Amino acid sequence: MRLFYAALALEANTFLPVPTSYQSFVEKLYFPPGQHPERAGHQTGAVATVRARAKRDGFELIEGSCYAAQPGGAAARAAYKRMRDEILGQLKAALPLDGAVFNLHGAMVAHGYDDCEGDFLERVRALAGPRCVIGVELDPHCHLTRKRCALADVIVLFKEYPHTDFVERGEEMVDLTLRAIHGEIKPVKSVFDCRLIASFPTSIQPMRGLVDKIMALEGKERVLSVSIGHCFPYGDVPECGARILVMTDNAKPHGDRLATEIGQELIALRESAAPPEYSVDGAIDAALAHPGGPIVIADTTDNAGGGAPSDNTAFLHRLIARGVQGAAVAPIWDPIAVRLAFDAGEGARLPFRFGGKMAKSSGPPVDAEVEVIRCVKNAQQSFSGAIVPIGDAASIRMGGVEAVLISTRAQGMGIDLFSNLGIDPKQRKILVVKSNQHFYASFSQIAAQVLYAEGDGALPRDYRTLPWSKVQRPIWPLDAETQPGLII
Ligand SMILES: [Zn+2]
Repeated sequence: MRLFYAALALEANTFLPVPTSYQSFVEKLYFPPGQHPERAGHQTGAVATVRARAKRDGFELIEGSCYAAQPGGAAARAAYKRMRDEILGQLKAALPLDGAVFNLHGAMVAHGYDDCEGDFLERVRALAGPRCVIGVELDPHCHLTRKRCALADVIVLFKEYPHTDFVERGEEMVDLTLRAIHGEIKPVKSVFDCRLIASFPTSIQPMRGLVDKIMALEGKERVLSVSIGHCFPYGDVPECGARILVMTDNAKPHGDRLATEIGQELIALRESAAPPEYSVDGAIDAALAHPGGPIVIADTTDNAGGGAPSDNTAFLHRLIARGVQGAAVAPIWDPIAVRLAFDAGEGARLPFRFGGKMAKSSGPPVDAEVEVIRCVKNAQQSFSGAIVPIGDAASIRMGGVEAVLISTRAQGMGIDLFSNLGIDPKQRKILVVKSNQHFYASFSQIAAQVLYAEGDGALPRDYRTLPWSKVQRPIWPLDAETQPGLII
């Protein structure tokens, strides 16, 4: 028995004009065949499992390349085709195959390709033939298109947001794929289209309850897997939108019923799933009024995890202007400012300009007299056991406010983003983290309170303000009346 594995992941924010280049993938995650480390990454959640199962079950694993980029604008056409054709060439050389499993994010768009994963899987299917079992692990912020659902035999999405379960879901995807290869199960899909665009953090109610509910359904009454596609709210493609995927062992009527029921439940909580958002000053007021600390404030509209530059300065300007003491902001993506900090050296005091560079939504830069606290080469932070590189990084202090500057764009995920740069997060009154939700797993462990704030960054929370042109209408909240229903 022969199984192929590869990874190709990008969450493409189609509203950003900056293309994601081949180099962007190489900087974030690129491993040639067989070179991926033992530990799974956020977008390579199945790699350790396929290796372990190959050893345990005695089948031959042929590894292809693994690529993942930081969320950003649509991929350059040549970049996508280069990576796609590299992996397809590896797959072709590995034929014949009984199965092929992939980590694909699921919201990849390239210039000229609205559904990269559908295009990729179509070519995989054409090469590998109809009998090859294709399994895919996706991020819930994917576009669960009809095409990819028709082409892949097994699709499993992460259930958690923050995505702390990328390894577990990868294990399930690999296990279901192997069982299908052995003829033990016949996976059949039911897909319900909720016709909505929204954000669904699973660490809080009501979404927590719905995730617990779908997990309890699995393994019973021939239900193999239940996934909730949250949608990626900044991807203007025809099939953007929340969808429910139920896979049964050849029990489609039951799957259809469940997908419809869960879909209706998701629709019912579309307005209450996301936490309330403070203004920038409102969040600072609420944090200062709290007797304890640290108060963690998510700067959601400048989240690199949604493709934003991560150099918006709204919080910095207000914290400095208000003379707040014991506040720290991270991460600010500004490679040039990092270079200046390194040039000045730790302990140096100098007039300094940083942030506010990459886009109109970045706001004006900060000019301040700063002290360089720490400079770290090839710095990193952690996320749920995975290591996330942030490039060369520096921390600076101006009055009572500190900032972490990074040179490889990333969202704030682990509290070591601060501690690795010499700032003790537990000793600060306010921690502003540029992230929408992935920060929560780590920062909630030390936070006296977590607040979400809407600044003036690149990712507005009112999706109606974005210039949509391709998404199929009607869809909520762009349209009041919608027609949800089963599409597969
Ligand atoms: Zn995601």
